[in-house]
Amino acid sequence: MSLVMPAPDQAVLNRRADIIAALRQIVPGEGVIDKEAQLRPYESDGLTAYRQVPMVVVLPETTDQVSRILKWCHLNRVKVVPRGSGTSLSGGALPLEDAVLLGLGKFKRILEIDYNDRIAVVEPGVTNLAITQAVEERGFYYAPDPSSQIACSIGGNVAENSGGVHCLKYGLTTNNVLGCEIVLMDGEILRIGGRQLDPAGLDLLGIVVGSEGLLGVVTEVTVRILAKPETARALLIGFATVESAGQCVADVIAAGIIPAGMEMMDELAIRAAEEFVKVGYPLDAAALLIVELDGPEAECDHLIGEIEAIARSNGAVSIRASNDETERMAFWAGRKAAFPAIGRLAPDYYCMDGTIPRRRLPEMLDYMDRQSQHYGLAVANVFHAGDGNLHPLILYDANETGELAKAEEFGRDILRFCVKVGGVLTGEHGVGVEKRDLMPVMFSETDLQHQQRLKCAFDPELLLNPGKVFPQLHRCAELGQMHVHGNQLAFPDLPRF
Ligand SMILES: Cc1cc2nc3c(=O)[nH]c(=O)nc-3n(C[C@H](O)[C@H](O)[C@H](O)COP(=O)(O)OP(=O)(O)OC[C@H]3O[C@@H](n4cnc5c(N)ncnc54)[C@H](O)[C@@H]3O)c2cc1C
Repeated sequence: MSLVMPAPDQAVLNRRADIIAALRQIVPGEGVIDKEAQLRPYESDGLTAYRQVPMVVVLPETTDQVSRILKWCHLNRVKVVPRGSGTSLSGGALPLEDAVLLGLGKFKRILEIDYNDRIAVVEPGVTNLAITQAVEERGFYYAPDPSSQIACSIGGNVAENSGGVHCLKYGLTTNNVLGCEIVLMDGEILRIGGRQLDPAGLDLLGIVVGSEGLLGVVTEVTVRILAKPETARALLIGFATVESAGQCVADVIAAGIIPAGMEMMDELAIRAAEEFVKVGYPLDAAALLIVELDGPEAECDHLIGEIEAIARSNGAVSIRASNDETERMAFWAGRKAAFPAIGRLAPDYYCMDGTIPRRRLPEMLDYMDRQSQHYGLAVANVFHAGDGNLHPLILYDANETGELAKAEEFGRDILRFCVKVGGVLTGEHGVGVEKRDLMPVMFSETDLQHQQRLKCAFDPELLLNPGKVFPQLHRCAELGQMHVHGNQLAFPDLPRF
């Protein structure tokens, strides 16, 4: 592992048996895991290049247990890493050698569904898809739809502010969560937000959503549920060049049309997906757009006509509109299977996540092409084109010496270029450990210190998920009043990593 994590505290490791015994007092039975073979499945999340067996795993079932665990760890200076389903692609749930891994997998209950207020109150371990499944027979759904929705938890979605195909029109997690209960590191239980948009007080919910498990442990979430649109139709549009596909995306948005989803795949991704699912993707196209319209039938038909015209004016080489639900699902099948399909092209792939202004897409793709040749590693592209959110998949073979390092360097180049063209380091996968050391590319030291002050307000001892997001974690005392006398740094004795 080339990544530098906070050095394990030997004094904490020496107390492991006492820590396990204390956790067993709070969570009896099988809720505490301490055997090597049973800890191993928790050693990584979806960013499997980095692994660390946790000191111990605890699986509480109630908010009271979470509160008591955190309070005990706070009093005894033991670090805690929260974990939902472990699908994060940025290493946010990567364990630490001297930390308790707190899994929310047993928080599986849907507590309330209120169709009048159009909300669902759920525990954090409920999967994203399970929320839609719980309300779909009444014609409702939960809009943000990460491709991992069958597995990822709503608590993880809140922590990562996750997105998906339908977020272009319906917003990310932050636009669909109304309130939550969180437990702070000292065991305090807070309720933030409520059951309606814009509750009174500071927008603390906006801080908690996307905080990557650094501020508190989410133990309950109130989400909006939406009525399913009357109709949904999709368009499959092939282009001879990526530039023309990119221009078509820009023109659709400029025309004031907000499709329910607008996804792009490049040539390598199109071929891989077509070979995998055989749904009739145009193999002569260099770029493919899948555009979904939803709403009243007449509106969908009208917008399909408008988008077809925009696509033609951008030189589309093929256009197909879905005529029924089976055909619409077939159009999406290739996109949804794109990651596993690309996974068949090489032993390993590294999935990046950055966001750029849509109009810079051709430049970005050109840069990736050049870097692909420089590193000798192929790259396939699948993007949430409407949001400018890129997911380049860098193909490599971890068994070849040096290929993982090359893939990572290639990935870092891509993210640096995203920032250079006016974009950001992450679209929806979070910073975690993956992009932690690139944060200074985007933020000044002052920016980062201000962000960390927020962390200090919630977790002054820096015990919750340390080593993630911030490239350097300053002690909170140091950030409070920074007086530099005679060019001497305050608190020189404080350890840094
Ligand atoms: C195949 C695949 C496809 C994916 N597609 C998408 C996609 O389309 N869009 C997208 O946005 N993401 C996607 N992801 C990434 C991932 O699924 C999301 O980031 C998801 O929200 C993580 O949820 P999780 O329950 O697995 O969280 P974990 O991986 O367990 O944890 C993620 C982070 O959240 C924190 N956390 C988890 N639960 C809590 C809690 N209850 N309280 C406080 N902090 C908590 C952890 O500490 C960690 O920092 C994909 C991943 C995979 C493997």
